[in-house]
Amino acid sequence: MPPLPRIDPDRLWRRQSEMDAIGATPGGGVHRLALGADDIEAHRRLADWAAARGWTVALDDIGNMFLRRAGSDPALPPVASGSHTDSQPMAGRFDGMSGVLAAFEALETIDDAGIATRHPLEVAIWNNEEGPRFAPACMGSAVYAGMRTLAEMRATADADGITMGACVDDLKAALPDAGRRELGAPFAAFIESHIEQGVTLEGNGNIIGVVTGMQGYRRFRVEVTGADAHSGTTPRARRKDAFVAATEMAVALRAAFIDDTDTMRFTIGRFEVEPGGISVVPGRVVFVIDLRHPSAAALQVEGDRVAAICAGLKGPCEVTITPHSASDPMEFPEAMRARLAAAATARGYPNQPIFSGAGHDARHIARLGPAGMIFIPCKDGISHNEAESAEKEHCAAAAQVIADVLIELAGPV
Ligand SMILES: [Zn+2]
Repeated sequence: MPPLPRIDPDRLWRRQSEMDAIGATPGGGVHRLALGADDIEAHRRLADWAAARGWTVALDDIGNMFLRRAGSDPALPPVASGSHTDSQPMAGRFDGMSGVLAAFEALETIDDAGIATRHPLEVAIWNNEEGPRFAPACMGSAVYAGMRTLAEMRATADADGITMGACVDDLKAALPDAGRRELGAPFAAFIESHIEQGVTLEGNGNIIGVVTGMQGYRRFRVEVTGADAHSGTTPRARRKDAFVAATEMAVALRAAFIDDTDTMRFTIGRFEVEPGGISVVPGRVVFVIDLRHPSAAALQVEGDRVAAICAGLKGPCEVTITPHSASDPMEFPEAMRARLAAAATARGYPNQPIFSGAGHDARHIARLGPAGMIFIPCKDGISHNEAESAEKEHCAAAAQVIADVLIELAGPV
């Protein structure tokens, strides 16, 4: 086999800068919510670049986009890489986009080198990974992998009542030449590159993290019901103060889920107090617990403690705990991890195995074929923030590893 071609770091960085301008914020970040005008423009730009290469563009019914360089055997499923173009509100330039552009640069490099592959190669752009406009997050990959239903997800609406289905139709209208892709079509392999969104790689001086897996989560909706009452006239003994009961539960839950190794992740990110009058003893509180752990057994045991802890602190109120959502921990196949680590080492990039605390599209796509994931450092671990930053050479290293592994997996002719 001829030597593996080198990616072009300058071209990759130019493309990054071009994308940075789409939805740019004054603070140096991007605001590119899923399938808003800026996100659709980012899709259009990628599709234009692909068309200029003679690659095909396809969209599925939940708005995932696939840029395909044909292989020699059209019957074979694609070997793909990619991530997402959407962002959190007022967020960073590299979350998602760096992985999309690493994949695109990998395909361009393979194209420039004239390497024919047996499998088609694809850049996959998963729709609505972030989720702030349309819940849930990782929607596109979840529908593609059959974890969510198309009809239900197309019906989800943003705060203005605009549905995801209408936005997907907007995307299709913006890309009239795009072909149609069936949901659930398998991959021969899928690899996602992403910024770490943590400080492990930076702290260890490593450039590539080979992701071992992702932690699971259990979420619980806790509803505490008391009675609305006048704040000036109601004595303590007669109060059914849902806020007091809920805060005692929150403090006790936090204490219960502190572990020696700091592995368990316990968060209450939503806490709603009703009716919300300054002079009203609140009669109702709803909060949601997000509990995460790499071990399915630990999640089971610890999550099962929530109900008893809350019941023990309800006082004169009533409490109802309902499961909100859950996802099992997952591991990427060992063979793919070894392949990614070997590719990084062969290029002289210091690398390490790393566990992902965040969820990513590769979690779902791993159900459809062998999947893997790499991380690159981001400065001080800052992400979901305009200050998010990644080094040019680290983005280039990711693209190089993706290019090298795609060639291996797609079978040079
Ligand atoms: Zn992301």
